[in-house]
Amino acid sequence: MRTFRYERFGGIVQLERPRALVFVDRDRARALGYRDQERWLQPPPEGELGLLSAPLEAHLQLTNRCSAGCQGCYTGASPDGAPQEYGESDWRRVIDALAAQGVFHLALGGGESALLPWLGDLARYARARGLVPNLTTSGLYSDHELERLIGWAPLFGQINVSLDGIGDGYRQVRGVDGFAQADRAIVRLRKVHKFVGINCVVTRQNFDSLAEIFGYVKKRKLREIELLRFKPSGRGRRVYESLRCTDAQHRSLLPAVLKLARRHRLRVRLDCSYTPMIAHHRVKPELMAWLGVYGCAGGDLLVAAKATGALTACSFAAPTEVRADRIADYWQRPDAFSTFRQWRSSEEPCRSCDYLKLCRGGCRVVSAHTLHDAARPDPECPRVVDFRAQQPVRLHLPLVADASANANANAND
Ligand code: SF4
Ligand code: SF4
Repeated sequence: MRTFRYERFGGIVQLERPRALVFVDRDRARALGYRDQERWLQPPPEGELGLLSAPLEAHLQLTNRCSAGCQGCYTGASPDGAPQEYGESDWRRVIDALAAQGVFHLALGGGESALLPWLGDLARYARARGLVPNLTTSGLYSDHELERLIGWAPLFGQINVSLDGIGDGYRQVRGVDGFAQADRAIVRLRKVHKFVGINCVVTRQNFDSLAEIFGYVKKRKLREIELLRFKPSGRGRRVYESLRCTDAQHRSLLPAVLKLARRHRLRVRLDCSYTPMIAHHRVKPELMAWLGVYGCAGGDLLVAAKATGALTACSFAAPTEVRADRIADYWQRPDAFSTFRQWRSSEEPCRSCDYLKLCRGGCRVVSAHTLHDAARPDPECPRVVDFRAQQPVRLHLPLVADASANANANAND
């Protein structure tokens, strides 16, 4: 079974087995039996894909409620959640809007969305509207809530449990001792669902434990490990300097991960912000494009919504003034997600980088936090680090005033 979404370049085929989104040009789409349609009356975009008709996936932060209190929580979740959070009927409206746009996947998360009594009904609703709901959960809740989630598990395409370390390694990263509960959730969910994996935020503290984490994933017979770069977002801003990986760790990430993936025969995903660390190893850009490595795709291939329904370019970016159920109008606006879409590097070393089109200058959220300017090259990209090391040392005394003027740049859309 497959579904198809028309695009100016041709279209996107959604396959169930293997689970994939495949981009095809107009000729290939015709060969697959799709007839010419209004969107193809316009000339195809030259060279690149151009702006898609809609994002491929939407990350919905269904609530900001969570009692765990992890030190680096990217949303700053709390037991009370955010003021004026969206409820079930609001999220149904958002799903209607995303379905009308042809979005394929939802990534549902929080806070802790397994605490919501209507999570199952919402997942069922998304399925009925043709969207595949995937879930990220901490596992840090009561037996009752876990049993309820297990009943809903078949509704989700993929369920990933957040797990940043094994045993005490978990506490070292998160500041709370949650390994046993997360492990309990993984074991129980895996018994009822084939597609269970972990989301692991890679930090300075757990980098050397990646082999142990991969071993755990293999032992629990999980399908996927997604490695995420630690972001300066939410409470993560406060502890960013102590948790973010070192430059040496970033440079050795790809070979280390490939070795472990081969040893354990595991499917590994690296999040969008790791593209500069992949490019560092001179992987062929064509191969990266073929593998779907797209760099900073916020406001383009993906969008997100905060617990209040506010639309954002990605889960870690500042909210826009627009609600997610108004995405159709906003998507076409020339100023939509401007920090992300209008980003064009005029600055070295991105300007002359072979990977610029794919990478788009690295993670906007890291640049906004560290350099107070989302438009500057990702300061943790190894090529950027080397470039800066070669520059003559300059005194920046007057820039104290400039920095405060730029502080509002915080990856605003
Ligand atoms: S700012 Fe870009 S690279 Fe960073 S997390 Fe968001 S989409 Fe990914
Ligand atoms: S130099 Fe810029 S474009 Fe090239 S890999 Fe680094 S961040 Fe990406």
